[in-house]
Amino acid sequence: MEQYAPLALTPQSSSSPSEGYLVLARKYRPVTLSQVIGQDFLIETLKRGIEGGRLGHAFILTGIRGTGKTTIARLIARSLNCEKGPTPDPCGVCSSCTSITQDRSLDVIEIDAASRTSVDDIREIIDASRYKAASSRYKIYIVDEVHMLSKSAFNALLKTLEEPPPHLKFVFATTEIHKVPTTILSRCVRFDLKRIEVETLASYFKTLCAQENVTFEEDAIALIARAAEGSARDGLSLLDQAMTYGGDHITAAQVRQMLGFSNRDGLLSLFHALLEGDCLSALEKMRELYREGADPQRLLEELLELTHRLHCLKVSPDLVKDAALTAEEQEKSKELADTLSIPTLTRVWQILLKGFEELKRSPSPQRALEILAIRLTHVAPVPSLHDLFENGDEKKKS
Ligand SMILES: [Zn+2]
Repeated sequence: MEQYAPLALTPQSSSSPSEGYLVLARKYRPVTLSQVIGQDFLIETLKRGIEGGRLGHAFILTGIRGTGKTTIARLIARSLNCEKGPTPDPCGVCSSCTSITQDRSLDVIEIDAASRTSVDDIREIIDASRYKAASSRYKIYIVDEVHMLSKSAFNALLKTLEEPPPHLKFVFATTEIHKVPTTILSRCVRFDLKRIEVETLASYFKTLCAQENVTFEEDAIALIARAAEGSARDGLSLLDQAMTYGGDHITAAQVRQMLGFSNRDGLLSLFHALLEGDCLSALEKMRELYREGADPQRLLEELLELTHRLHCLKVSPDLVKDAALTAEEQEKSKELADTLSIPTLTRVWQILLKGFEELKRSPSPQRALEILAIRLTHVAPVPSLHDLFENGDEKKKS
């Protein structure tokens, strides 16, 4: 029987600074369901299902990249096949547990649907799935990026999903659930993985730092947690980088530089100059930020972020609880928000957003950003429609 190539286990950032160095995502890969972070509800449901033996024969895990789909899929496999189970806390030492961890279980077969999309690939799987598990309770197929299967491959799979032999389980994972046919979905138990909260990631990263004997500035970890955008894998890869860069102490300044962030004071005063229509000063501040290593596209993203934050501040300070901002930065943002109206901010947002598209197409992002700054400083003083109507009314009255 053909053995399917297991998925690459190594995370995206496999650049190890020294031989034998294990990237954090691998070193701290959860080995029980309880160790999975940021998916509490899903994990609780899964645990109860496994304990009560009420799990179906097919699952589909969906969520953005790096939230733990493949990890959870493997943990389901371990939970179902552990010799002491099925149990939500697989023992980790029996032959089934160890063979799954070491990627050599004959009964847990991982398939990357991105590279095996054809109906023939699926037929092979279906043919092989008729035979009972070699040495475990279940034969479990983990199909990653299942939405990549062709239409005929899905159709071939459907029959098996409708009447699966009792020894067979499927765990599907996908980032694009809307591309999976409803006929397939209706035969699976669906689990939606959430983006992992910034706070959850931050406290997880702090635990890892402690375990790695690395000290850190609070802001440094907050910045990494935020930049991860809800993905544990992306966050861990950034933390790896930060550790490589900073050694046994990670500072916020290092992380900012690593992420291509500009210094916050510089950004706020640049925004101020732009909104005051002070073109020369805005350009000077911008060039200063480049000299410090700011990336034009990142800088524009930060201006957009700041504009969004100011919008929210206008609505309610409660909307802005950004873990990556210091108290002083929060205060400065608040002051800035007080001087600006929502219509002005909205206009700035529109100009920046349009500029963002232009910048991506421009042969020189730096020049595109400077032109955008000039445009902003010249457009900003124009009264908003709201102001025009107000004045118009006053004129009519006088
Ligand atoms: Zn076990």
